[in-house]
Amino acid sequence: MIKLEQVTKSYKLGTSEVTVLKGINLEIEKGDFLAIMGPSGSGKSTLMNIIGCLDPPSSGRYLLTGEDISKYDDQGLAKVRNREIGFVFQQFHLLPRLTAKKNVELPMIYAGIKKKEREHRAEIALEKVGLKERMDYLPNSLSGGQKQRVAIARSLVNDPTIILADEPTGALDTKTSAAIMDLLVDLNRAGTTIALVTHEPEIAEYTDRTIFVRDGEVLDQGERRGERYS
Ligand code: ADP
Ligand code: ADP
Repeated sequence: MIKLEQVTKSYKLGTSEVTVLKGINLEIEKGDFLAIMGPSGSGKSTLMNIIGCLDPPSSGRYLLTGEDISKYDDQGLAKVRNREIGFVFQQFHLLPRLTAKKNVELPMIYAGIKKKEREHRAEIALEKVGLKERMDYLPNSLSGGQKQRVAIARSLVNDPTIILADEPTGALDTKTSAAIMDLLVDLNRAGTTIALVTHEPEIAEYTDRTIFVRDGEVLDQGERRGERYS
Protein backbone atom coordinates (compact mmCIF):
# COMPACT_ATOMS: atom_id res chain seq x y z
CA MET A 1 0.00 0.00 0.00
CA ILE A 2 2.89 2.30 0.88
CA LYS A 3 6.28 1.56 -0.59
CA LEU A 4 9.49 3.55 -0.37
CA GLU A 5 12.29 2.39 -2.65
CA GLN A 6 15.80 3.76 -2.13
CA VAL A 7 14.37 7.06 -0.93
CA THR A 8 16.93 9.76 -0.14
CA LYS A 9 16.51 13.29 1.15
CA SER A 10 19.21 15.94 1.02
CA TYR A 11 19.22 19.57 2.03
CA LYS A 12 21.46 22.34 0.75
CA LEU A 13 23.26 24.11 3.56
CA GLY A 14 25.10 27.04 1.98
CA THR A 15 27.41 25.52 -0.60
CA SER A 16 27.36 22.01 0.82
CA GLU A 17 24.65 19.40 0.92
CA VAL A 18 23.61 17.17 3.80
CA THR A 19 21.98 13.84 3.13
CA VAL A 20 19.45 13.17 5.86
CA LEU A 21 17.87 10.00 4.45
CA LYS A 22 20.26 7.57 2.79
CA GLY A 23 18.27 5.11 0.74
CA ILE A 24 15.21 4.11 2.74
CA ASN A 25 13.34 0.94 1.76
CA LEU A 26 10.08 0.53 3.61
CA GLU A 27 6.75 -1.14 3.04
CA ILE A 28 3.60 -0.45 5.01
CA GLU A 29 0.64 -2.76 4.40
CA LYS A 30 -3.01 -2.01 4.86
CA GLY A 31 -3.90 -2.54 8.51
CA ASP A 32 -0.33 -2.16 9.79
CA PHE A 33 0.40 -0.47 13.10
CA LEU A 34 3.98 0.72 12.88
CA ALA A 35 6.28 2.47 15.33
CA ILE A 36 9.31 4.44 14.15
CA MET A 37 12.05 4.85 16.74
CA GLY A 38 15.54 6.30 16.71
CA PRO A 39 17.70 8.98 18.29
CA SER A 40 17.02 12.70 17.86
CA GLY A 41 18.33 13.91 14.52
CA SER A 42 18.30 10.43 12.93
CA GLY A 43 15.75 11.42 10.27
CA LYS A 44 12.40 10.29 11.70
CA SER A 45 10.61 13.60 11.08
CA THR A 46 12.08 13.84 7.60
CA LEU A 47 10.85 10.31 6.87
CA MET A 48 7.39 11.10 8.25
CA ASN A 49 7.29 14.29 6.13
CA ILE A 50 7.95 12.23 3.02
CA ILE A 51 5.43 9.53 3.88
CA GLY A 52 2.95 12.34 4.70
CA CYS A 53 3.47 14.01 1.30
CA LEU A 54 4.70 17.21 2.95
CA ASP A 55 8.06 16.92 1.15
CA PRO A 56 9.14 15.08 -1.98
CA PRO A 57 12.10 12.69 -1.82
CA SER A 58 15.36 13.88 -3.42
CA SER A 59 15.68 10.53 -5.19
CA GLY A 60 14.10 7.10 -5.13
CA ARG A 61 10.47 6.10 -5.54
CA TYR A 62 7.48 6.58 -3.28
CA LEU A 63 4.42 4.53 -4.17
CA LEU A 64 1.21 5.42 -2.37
CA THR A 65 -1.73 3.13 -3.20
CA GLY A 66 0.09 2.20 -6.40
CA GLU A 67 0.63 5.79 -7.54
CA ASP A 68 4.26 6.94 -7.92
CA ILE A 69 4.22 10.35 -6.28
CA SER A 70 8.00 10.92 -6.09
CA LYS A 71 7.95 13.50 -8.87
CA TYR A 72 4.82 15.39 -7.83
CA ASP A 73 5.09 19.15 -7.31
CA ASP A 74 3.76 20.93 -4.20
CA GLN A 75 0.26 21.19 -5.59
CA GLY A 76 0.15 17.53 -6.59
CA LEU A 77 1.46 16.51 -3.18
CA ALA A 78 -1.11 18.70 -1.40
CA LYS A 79 -3.92 16.99 -3.27
CA VAL A 80 -2.67 13.50 -2.42
CA ARG A 81 -2.00 14.57 1.16
CA ASN A 82 -5.52 15.86 1.76
CA ARG A 83 -7.03 12.71 0.32
CA GLU A 84 -4.74 10.04 1.72
CA ILE A 85 -3.12 11.19 4.98
CA GLY A 86 -4.42 11.90 8.48
CA PHE A 87 -2.06 13.75 10.83
CA VAL A 88 -1.80 13.66 14.62
CA PHE A 89 0.77 15.84 16.42
CA GLN A 90 2.38 15.95 19.84
CA GLN A 91 0.94 19.42 20.54
CA PHE A 92 -2.50 18.59 19.04
CA HIS A 93 -2.54 21.61 16.67
CA LEU A 94 -6.19 22.44 17.24
CA LEU A 95 -7.49 25.88 16.30
CA PRO A 96 -8.30 27.57 19.65
CA ARG A 97 -11.30 29.59 18.45
CA LEU A 98 -13.11 26.63 16.95
CA THR A 99 -15.17 24.07 18.85
CA ALA A 100 -14.09 20.44 18.87
CA LYS A 101 -16.63 19.70 16.18
CA LYS A 102 -15.50 22.58 13.93
CA ASN A 103 -11.89 21.48 14.32
CA VAL A 104 -12.87 18.00 13.19
CA GLU A 105 -14.73 19.47 10.21
CA LEU A 106 -11.66 21.33 8.89
CA PRO A 107 -10.15 18.61 6.68
CA MET A 108 -13.58 18.10 5.15
CA ILE A 109 -13.85 21.82 4.34
CA TYR A 110 -10.57 21.53 2.41
CA ALA A 111 -11.98 18.44 0.70
CA GLY A 112 -15.08 20.38 -0.40
CA ILE A 113 -17.63 18.35 1.54
CA LYS A 114 -21.00 20.01 2.17
CA LYS A 115 -21.95 21.31 5.61
CA LYS A 116 -24.59 18.74 6.46
CA GLU A 117 -22.35 15.81 5.56
CA ARG A 118 -19.42 17.44 7.40
CA GLU A 119 -21.39 17.81 10.60
CA HIS A 120 -22.66 14.26 10.36
CA ARG A 121 -19.19 12.82 9.81
CA ALA A 122 -17.64 15.01 12.55
CA GLU A 123 -20.18 13.72 15.05
CA ILE A 124 -19.55 10.10 14.10
CA ALA A 125 -15.76 10.62 14.40
CA LEU A 126 -16.12 12.31 17.80
CA GLU A 127 -18.34 9.48 18.96
CA LYS A 128 -15.67 6.99 17.84
CA VAL A 129 -13.08 8.67 20.07
CA GLY A 130 -15.51 8.95 23.00
CA LEU A 131 -15.99 12.69 22.89
CA LYS A 132 -19.45 13.27 21.46
CA GLU A 133 -20.69 15.02 24.61
CA ARG A 134 -17.90 17.58 24.33
CA MET A 135 -18.25 18.41 20.65
CA ASP A 136 -19.27 22.02 21.31
CA TYR A 137 -16.39 22.72 23.71
CA LEU A 138 -13.44 24.92 22.79
CA PRO A 139 -10.00 23.24 22.97
CA ASN A 140 -9.04 25.31 26.03
CA SER A 141 -11.78 23.72 28.09
CA LEU A 142 -10.62 20.20 27.22
CA SER A 143 -7.89 18.17 28.95
CA GLY A 144 -4.76 17.12 27.04
CA GLY A 145 -6.13 13.64 26.45
CA GLN A 146 -9.43 15.06 25.21
CA LYS A 147 -7.60 17.43 22.87
CA GLN A 148 -5.70 14.51 21.42
CA ARG A 149 -8.98 12.63 20.95
CA VAL A 150 -10.30 15.59 18.95
CA ALA A 151 -7.12 15.58 16.86
CA ILE A 152 -7.51 11.84 16.26
CA ALA A 153 -11.14 12.35 15.22
CA ARG A 154 -9.96 15.07 12.84
CA SER A 155 -7.36 12.70 11.35
CA LEU A 156 -10.07 10.12 10.61
CA VAL A 157 -12.79 12.12 8.89
CA ASN A 158 -11.57 11.87 5.30
CA ASP A 159 -11.07 8.11 5.70
CA PRO A 160 -7.31 8.35 5.03
CA THR A 161 -5.07 5.58 3.72
CA ILE A 162 -2.83 6.07 6.75
CA ILE A 163 -2.70 8.05 9.97
CA LEU A 164 0.71 9.52 10.79
CA ALA A 165 1.23 10.41 14.43
CA ASP A 166 4.37 12.28 15.52
CA GLU A 167 4.90 11.61 19.24
CA PRO A 168 1.13 11.47 19.86
CA THR A 169 1.59 10.88 23.59
CA GLY A 170 4.61 13.19 24.02
CA ALA A 171 2.61 15.88 25.83
CA LEU A 172 0.50 13.51 27.95
CA ASP A 173 0.97 11.88 31.35
CA THR A 174 1.42 8.12 31.60
CA LYS A 175 -2.19 7.24 32.30
CA THR A 176 -3.58 9.48 29.57
CA SER A 177 -0.94 8.16 27.15
CA ALA A 178 -2.11 4.60 27.83
CA ALA A 179 -5.72 5.60 27.12
CA ILE A 180 -4.75 7.29 23.85
CA MET A 181 -2.73 4.22 22.82
CA ASP A 182 -5.71 1.98 23.67
CA LEU A 183 -7.81 4.16 21.37
CA LEU A 184 -5.24 3.88 18.55
CA VAL A 185 -5.15 0.09 19.05
CA ASP A 186 -8.96 -0.01 18.75
CA LEU A 187 -8.91 2.09 15.59
CA ASN A 188 -6.18 -0.12 14.14
CA ARG A 189 -8.18 -3.25 14.91
CA ALA A 190 -11.13 -1.67 13.13
CA GLY A 191 -8.91 -1.42 10.03
CA THR A 192 -7.07 1.92 10.24
CA THR A 193 -3.42 1.86 9.16
CA ILE A 194 -1.24 3.83 11.59
CA ALA A 195 2.43 4.85 11.74
CA LEU A 196 3.75 6.73 14.75
CA VAL A 197 7.05 8.17 15.88
CA THR A 198 7.98 7.67 19.51
CA HIS A 199 10.97 7.85 21.81
CA GLU A 200 9.35 5.53 24.32
CA PRO A 201 9.66 1.74 24.09
CA GLU A 202 6.48 1.37 26.20
CA ILE A 203 4.55 3.24 23.50
CA ALA A 204 6.10 1.17 20.70
CA GLU A 205 4.91 -1.94 22.59
CA TYR A 206 1.33 -1.10 21.64
CA THR A 207 2.12 -1.38 17.93
CA ASP A 208 2.64 -4.48 15.77
CA ARG A 209 6.02 -3.62 14.35
CA THR A 210 8.88 -1.29 15.25
CA ILE A 211 11.51 0.02 12.86
CA PHE A 212 14.69 1.77 13.99
CA VAL A 213 16.15 4.73 12.15
CA ARG A 214 19.76 5.74 12.67
CA ASP A 215 21.79 8.29 10.70
CA GLY A 216 19.22 8.35 7.92
CA GLU A 217 18.97 4.59 7.49
CA VAL A 218 16.43 2.00 8.59
CA LEU A 219 18.49 -0.36 10.76
CA ASP A 220 15.83 -2.91 11.49
CA GLN A 221 12.63 -3.38 9.47
CA GLY A 222 11.00 -5.05 12.47
CA GLU A 223 9.08 -8.30 12.55
CA ARG A 224 5.32 -8.07 12.66
CA ARG A 225 4.06 -9.31 16.00
CA GLY A 226 1.45 -11.98 15.55
CA GLU A 227 -0.20 -11.37 18.87
CA ARG A 228 -0.36 -7.91 20.35
CA TYR A 229 -0.92 -9.10 23.87
CA SER A 230 0.65 -12.32 25.07
P1 ADP B 1 12.41 17.29 16.60
O1 ADP B 1 13.62 16.42 16.50
O2 ADP B 1 12.10 17.76 17.98
O3 ADP B 1 11.23 16.74 15.86
P2 ADP B 1 13.91 19.04 14.86
O4 ADP B 1 14.74 20.04 15.54
O5 ADP B 1 14.55 17.83 14.30
O6 ADP B 1 12.73 18.67 15.84
O7 ADP B 1 13.12 19.74 13.65
C1 ADP B 1 12.12 20.69 13.84
C2 ADP B 1 11.79 21.29 12.48
O8 ADP B 1 12.89 22.05 11.98
C3 ADP B 1 11.50 20.22 11.43
O9 ADP B 1 10.42 20.64 10.63
C4 ADP B 1 12.77 20.13 10.61
O10 ADP B 1 12.52 19.80 9.27
C5 ADP B 1 13.35 21.52 10.74
N1 ADP B 1 14.82 21.52 10.80
C6 ADP B 1 15.57 20.72 11.59
N2 ADP B 1 16.89 20.95 11.40
C7 ADP B 1 16.95 21.94 10.47
C8 ADP B 1 18.03 22.63 9.85
N3 ADP B 1 19.32 22.36 10.12
N4 ADP B 1 17.74 23.56 8.94
C9 ADP B 1 16.48 23.85 8.64
N5 ADP B 1 15.41 23.22 9.19
C10 ADP B 1 15.64 22.29 10.08
P1 ADP C 1 14.50 13.33 13.97
O1 ADP C 1 13.06 13.52 13.65
O2 ADP C 1 14.89 11.89 14.00
O3 ADP C 1 14.93 14.07 15.18
P2 ADP C 1 14.95 14.97 11.65
O4 ADP C 1 14.36 14.27 10.48
O5 ADP C 1 14.18 16.11 12.24
O6 ADP C 1 15.35 13.93 12.75
O7 ADP C 1 16.35 15.55 11.23
C1 ADP C 1 17.40 14.73 10.72
C2 ADP C 1 18.56 15.60 10.36
O8 ADP C 1 18.22 16.41 9.25
C3 ADP C 1 18.98 16.55 11.45
O9 ADP C 1 20.39 16.63 11.43
C4 ADP C 1 18.38 17.88 11.03
O10 ADP C 1 19.11 18.95 11.53
C5 ADP C 1 18.43 17.77 9.52
N1 ADP C 1 17.34 18.52 8.85
C6 ADP C 1 16.02 18.30 8.99
N2 ADP C 1 15.31 19.15 8.24
C7 ADP C 1 16.21 19.93 7.62
C8 ADP C 1 16.11 21.03 6.72
N3 ADP C 1 14.93 21.51 6.31
N4 ADP C 1 17.24 21.60 6.27
C9 ADP C 1 18.44 21.14 6.69
N5 ADP C 1 18.61 20.12 7.54
C10 ADP C 1 17.51 19.53 8.00
